[in-house]
Amino acid sequence: MLKLHSEHIGKRLLISMLVIVLSLLCISIPLIIGAYRDYQQSKHTLVELKALTTVADLANQISRERGPSNMAMSSTAEDLNKNLEDLKQYRKGVDEQIELTFATLQNAGFKQLAKELKFEIQNKLTLARQHVDKYIETPFQQRQSSQLDTTIVSMFGAWDSCHELLKNVVMQSQSKDGGISDYYTLVMILAELRDQAGRVASNVMASVTFHEPIPNENIARALQTQKQVRYLWDLVNTMQHEQNKTPEFNHLYVNVKRQFIDLGLPIVTQLIEQSHAGEAYFLKGTQLTAEISPKFTTVIDLQKYLLEYSVEAAEREQSAAQRKFLSNLLIALVSLMAALFTMIYAQRKVFYPLIQARDTIVELSYAHSSAGSDVVEHKLRQVHSLYDALRKLQDMLKQRDAFEFELKSIANTDRLTGVSNRLALDEYLKLTEKLPNHFENICLIIIDIDNFKQVNDTHGHIFGDNVIVAVADCLKENVRHSDLIIRFGGDEFLVVMQNIEFDKAVASAEKIRTAVASLDLIDPENQEKLNISVSIGVAVGARTWMDLLEKADKSLFKSKEGGKNLVSV
Ligand code: GH3
Ligand code: MG
Repeated sequence: MLKLHSEHIGKRLLISMLVIVLSLLCISIPLIIGAYRDYQQSKHTLVELKALTTVADLANQISRERGPSNMAMSSTAEDLNKNLEDLKQYRKGVDEQIELTFATLQNAGFKQLAKELKFEIQNKLTLARQHVDKYIETPFQQRQSSQLDTTIVSMFGAWDSCHELLKNVVMQSQSKDGGISDYYTLVMILAELRDQAGRVASNVMASVTFHEPIPNENIARALQTQKQVRYLWDLVNTMQHEQNKTPEFNHLYVNVKRQFIDLGLPIVTQLIEQSHAGEAYFLKGTQLTAEISPKFTTVIDLQKYLLEYSVEAAEREQSAAQRKFLSNLLIALVSLMAALFTMIYAQRKVFYPLIQARDTIVELSYAHSSAGSDVVEHKLRQVHSLYDALRKLQDMLKQRDAFEFELKSIANTDRLTGVSNRLALDEYLKLTEKLPNHFENICLIIIDIDNFKQVNDTHGHIFGDNVIVAVADCLKENVRHSDLIIRFGGDEFLVVMQNIEFDKAVASAEKIRTAVASLDLIDPENQEKLNISVSIGVAVGARTWMDLLEKADKSLFKSKEGGKNLVSV
């Protein structure tokens, strides 16, 4: 016996549903997590890039502080105050940038670097500024080029620390390995370029200010930095990918060459040549600063452009990552909901009713085999709606069939005698006429009550009806169940017999005749006794029904002619 109960099926269904849901989760969760990580990474990249931008700005500002510092240190008595004020303002701006950079680094997670900025860079800057201030305070006559040179070198020290910081930000950036890593390198190269450029002039600044020959060491450094500047400028071009060389990049890049390399560097070269020749310099210290400083801005502009461009690229990456994450999440949620909905719907509307119906049928079969009618009745009462509906439908169909059958029987039955009527005969003929040679073996008996008119006239129609019923009863009693008895006319009956031998059919006819003749009928009106008789015609085998009927009719005629109460063939 099948022992698969509905709980097992229910459990299996539940397990299948869980497997589907888990599979969906297994597919979607890594996708969502991956997309979320990418999104977080892109957000972090942006934060790191912004920190880098801030540090690069600070490095530039510290580097550029050499400008107003040089101006103040090289000032004559007349423009000293103005230059001092400019320097003060500039330093304020740098200090603000340090605070901003400190906060930005902390936010971006570079806590250690933020500390370094506070202590090392700020200390070095303070030291350099003290040197500058001390130099400015020194009376003009007591000033020496070596002192100025030391001051300038200490300014470089502050920048060096800042440059180190920039390098460390790049090194510690998690996003340096990502799609924007080249920008980090470029920003560093440009910061280096900007600084080397500053050093070219600073190496000769002290000697030019004091109208002294430039020491060989400084000339060597100045030439070295010039070479470095050209090298770095070439490197920028190599590093920048061809597809990223926008018209704006090309314009800014060419500007560095035109302004800084072609116009800025030759100023220093000319000063070195004049030093070699022992000629007077064509520029004063302040003029040198004023001439060369604006040329550096081209480098800063290029650096700024690259930083902005990389920030834009990172922002684009971030919004793309955000879109991907959200769409992954949405698709996963929608498919999960759809799967759950489909499964719950299928379970409730398809599987559950099927399981219940099956369960009920199984229970019923157990009940039938092992329990009495009480249990069956009890089980039947518990039948689920589906089974109920099926049973009701079955009952309704049975009732309809029975009703149809009844209607048909009523239509085919003679109301007075209960035997078949001519309608039934018609149906029988409709069915049998199609069968080949059917009437060859059919036996037909025609029975007609003798002198029936007289019975009616003498005893009335009601009694006449009783006589017809009595004859019909005799017929029923003396033919086989399979034979068809038809009331063919008022006092005339047919008996259609299939698969019967001729002799037996004649014998049946004789039996009918004898049975009718021995009927003792009593008229209830006058208690008068009455005997009746029938004349019978028998025929067997014909090509068609009409032929058979004609043959039997001829036989009947013979019986009537022969004196009635006879069987003729
Ligand atoms: P025959 O011996 O030659 O058959 O003579 P008959 O008087 O029987 O003549 P026939 O068979 O022609 O007469 C049939 C009569 O049966 C005529 C009719 O009034 C009567 N009859 C027909 N149907 C019914 C019926 O349902 N009830 C009654 N009581 N009489 C009927
Ligand atoms: Mg008659």
